[in-house]
Amino acid sequence: MNRKLVDKLCCPFDKSDLKIQVIQETEYQEIIEGLLTCESCQRYFPIIYGIPIMTPDEYREKSLELPNLERWGLEIDTKTNSFKIAGPKTTKELK
Ligand SMILES: [Zn+2]
Repeated sequence: MNRKLVDKLCCPFDKSDLKIQVIQETEYQEIIEGLLTCESCQRYFPIIYGIPIMTPDEYREKSLELPNLERWGLEIDTKTNSFKIAGPKTTKELK
C-alpha cells in the first residue's frame, strides 16, 4: 500500500486516526510490511504483502498473523483474542 494512503485510513471501529510503523517499504514508498495501530482502542492492523488487514475481529485469524508480528519483534497478547497491542511499552515505541 502507498504510504500516502495511511492518512486516509481510519480505525474501522471508532474512526480514530491510525499510527503507522513501517517494517519494510520500497523506494517508491510502497509499504510492504508494517503495523497500523489505533490510539483510541489499541487495536493493531498488520500490513502483510502490502495489504492492510482491517477486517473485523471475528474474521481475523490470530494464529496466521502471529508469525509476522513476532518476526517484527512486537509484543502481542497471545492469551486473548482481542487484537490489541500488548502493553504501554509497545504503544510508546510506536509513537
Ligand atoms: Zn480504534
